[in-house]
Amino acid sequence: MDALGRHVLVEFFECSHEILNDVSTIENSMVSAAKEAGATVINSTFHHFSPFGVSGVVVIQESHLAVHTWPEYRYAAVDLFTCGDPVDPWVSYSYLKKAFKAAHGSSMEIRRGLLNLVQASQVDLPELRLKAEESLVIPKYTRNIWFTERNEDIAFSLRHKGDPLFRRQSPYQKVEVYDTYQFGKMLTCDGAIMCAEQDEHVYHEMITHVPLFTHPEPKRILVIGGGDGGTVREIVRHDSVAEVVLVEIDEVVIEASKAHLPSLAASFDNPKLSLVVGDGIKYVSETSDGEFDIIVIDSTDPIGPAEGLFSHEFYLQAHRILNHDGILVAQTESPRFNDNIFRQIYQEFYKVFGRKNVSCYLAYIPTYPTGMWSFSFCSKQKIHPVLDMRIQAAERFSLKHNLNYYSPEIHKASFVLPRFVQEMLV
Ligand code: SAM
Repeated sequence: MDALGRHVLVEFFECSHEILNDVSTIENSMVSAAKEAGATVINSTFHHFSPFGVSGVVVIQESHLAVHTWPEYRYAAVDLFTCGDPVDPWVSYSYLKKAFKAAHGSSMEIRRGLLNLVQASQVDLPELRLKAEESLVIPKYTRNIWFTERNEDIAFSLRHKGDPLFRRQSPYQKVEVYDTYQFGKMLTCDGAIMCAEQDEHVYHEMITHVPLFTHPEPKRILVIGGGDGGTVREIVRHDSVAEVVLVEIDEVVIEASKAHLPSLAASFDNPKLSLVVGDGIKYVSETSDGEFDIIVIDSTDPIGPAEGLFSHEFYLQAHRILNHDGILVAQTESPRFNDNIFRQIYQEFYKVFGRKNVSCYLAYIPTYPTGMWSFSFCSKQKIHPVLDMRIQAAERFSLKHNLNYYSPEIHKASFVLPRFVQEMLV
């Protein structure tokens, strides 16, 4: 060869949109493309960006293969850089063209380090090689694959073990379960984190026990969304509760949770549970006045099927089906990550419940973007979320069930808001 290395710059057009947004398939394809070409793989680092795109690099003993994808344009830019005759980057090119289902590709090869331009220094190569072999560590292939959720300016990433444990495109969303290194198994819908085994208790304890220990005697509870089962698991622990109606639009979420998140799905067989697979908006509009003591809106973000769950009309209907002591609690996103939506949701709640009957409380959930998560507490009849808390019952319950996060002190403290959040709520 007349150069030290071969650098092939590749553009793949009209690829499969699905594949270009699938971090595991891309990682597997890039690693296989390297191996097919005769390279020795050292490690791979790949990130998926929510909602679109994958970036990654496979480090090979003979240099690297890198990719960045734009699924929305069905386009991938790939760099294949190899050194030494035995590794042929064009083998990787053909392999990837097929793997990404590209209709066509364009490419050019640049020779790097042309031998007539570089000069070998006067070193004793056999001597150098001997020394290197004495301290030789056989490279071990390590995978480094990341799930990333981001908005325009902030990203949150978690490293996971690679191939998803569950992946299904339902009529509503793409439901996936990943095995993460830090937070156990994690459920995602359309690339947004729903819950993870190691910190789900924060969200589920706070979205349930705060209203249930404030209402004087909660008997009938409606949960909208919440198909992972965590919210229901917490509610059925309350002796006063006679019935929980769970309305989840997507049965694939329930299936994924039952199959891979058994600690969340523990109460799907509980006799207090009435499970409805259907649209929460429709269910609420068809329910008679004053039917429920508490409504918990445990929904996805306000896009797709959950969009209507954040609307004025829906809040009016929810207010109507609460009884006179009724409380509505909803997850209201991150004040920093979803700042505009956060502001809008509260403005709508103020219109329906009245400014004085709406409070916001916070909990710290590492797997949700920014870690700071918010919930609204809306009361139909001026029940105060802190002054009316049933402290002794909450104390006994949190000890008896060995809760991870909720306690009467946390309940109280969660309504103390940082100044910047207070300012967003005026
Ligand atoms: N803890 C989560 C979070 O804040 O990220 C929410 C988890 S839970 C799995 C959200 C559920 O709401 C999803 O399973 C989704 O299918 C469901 N959902 C979305 N829109 C809905 C609707 N209109 N009616 C009922 N369920 C809905």
